[in-house]
Amino acid sequence: MRAVGVLALQGDVREHVTTLENLGVTVRRVRTPGDLNGVSGLVIPGGESTTMSRLLMTSGLREPLQSLITGGFPVLGTCAGLIMLAREVLDGRADQWSFGAIDVTVRRNGYGRQIASFETPIDVLGSGTVPGVFIRAPRIVRWGEEVVVLASHDHGDGAHPVLVRQGSAWGCSFHPELTSDVTVHGLFLDALAEALR
Ligand code: GLN
Repeated sequence: MRAVGVLALQGDVREHVTTLENLGVTVRRVRTPGDLNGVSGLVIPGGESTTMSRLLMTSGLREPLQSLITGGFPVLGTCAGLIMLAREVLDGRADQWSFGAIDVTVRRNGYGRQIASFETPIDVLGSGTVPGVFIRAPRIVRWGEEVVVLASHDHGDGAHPVLVRQGSAWGCSFHPELTSDVTVHGLFLDALAEALR
């Protein structure tokens, strides 16, 4: 497999790089459009989606990435990265935008303020239980028919998806990169390898 990119403008870049390297993958930090040459997929980390959407513009990455993603380029967004991939963002800043790759509506900080961060076991379809670290996480409040729900969490008011996939775009409300569990990254890499075959 060619290198897998990690968007390295802002957020928990190093943790994603480490997780991917632990899975034996060559990783490229993506900061400029040129860095996209030769990468076969991209991870968009957690962090702050308002800042990330601004830096994607100033770095010149927004347009090339938008056409790659629209064309089926494999992407995995965690937390703020999920917000960047969503079709619709609630409680966003006025100038915030997203790639619209996954037909979901996310509410920023949608798990409440006081309990904005929590950890809970998450059952991933066909892959066992993984630790779910939620930090000011986006809540998926609407999901379209084409969205495959791989994991959900009931926060006391009904189950909401927390790991979803639409085609080659994957989104995760929690932070798999902050634990030693490699299940989510592994699933993404398997799909990526499949796409390249
Ligand atoms: N609340 C943050 C945002 O809106 C996301 C938090 C995170 O990535 N841990 O971007």
